[in-house]
Amino acid sequence: MPQSAAVTTSSGEKAFKIFVALALFCGAVAAFIYGYWGWGLAALFVSFCFLSHAFLLSGKANCPVCARPLSGLGPVSTCGCPKCRTYFRTKDGQLEEIAAATVADEYTFATRLPWEDLADQTMLEPLGSMPTLNTTTRPLNAAWPEGCCVCGQASTRTDAFTCSVLNKRGFLDKKVIIEVSGVPYCEKCKKGVAVDYDRGNTDLGGIFLVFRSYAYFKAFRKLNSW
Ligand SMILES: [Zn+2]
Ligand SMILES: [Zn+2]
Repeated sequence: MPQSAAVTTSSGEKAFKIFVALALFCGAVAAFIYGYWGWGLAALFVSFCFLSHAFLLSGKANCPVCARPLSGLGPVSTCGCPKCRTYFRTKDGQLEEIAAATVADEYTFATRLPWEDLADQTMLEPLGSMPTLNTTTRPLNAAWPEGCCVCGQASTRTDAFTCSVLNKRGFLDKKVIIEVSGVPYCEKCKKGVAVDYDRGNTDLGGIFLVFRSYAYFKAFRKLNSW
């Protein structure tokens, strides 16, 4: 039985955003009157952003699985709970778990890597970054669920990749080359798993293991409980 929760509108948040939008609009009008066109246009733009946010992204609900409060929900959107990592969509005022068979076009479903020191202040190594002596290699010891990591059919091959990240915790940047191997694929599929940011929750620092198949993501989390 799928779990769901009602999405309510946070009226305080909504009122606040409308108030800010109105204040900015008044500021824009004043700027236009006094001939500050650049400032006027900027204020008008930000005012519009606040106004659209007020009406489109003021929904909130408690996660139906772990009860963590979720906010900034739109009328039709997908969101992930940062705590229990269940993914939901909002529809008709309800937050419900997305279908298990969902395969996203982008890497969408994100789970933490097993290393505490890479959980924050860590970024993908930018292209052309300076070489550093402070480089280590880390193989990811993961158990991969059976079947292709994209479509779930019988796998015929495994794939491996590496990803370089920079950890900015210490005095010197630490470069870590993450080695991922044994990822199962069928003949047809590719690009099912990567190391990346959690694009749906960019305020969560650090890097994640990201998936396109929701069913495979869930199976993976069951096998790897780090
Ligand atoms: Zn949750
Ligand atoms: Zn496949």
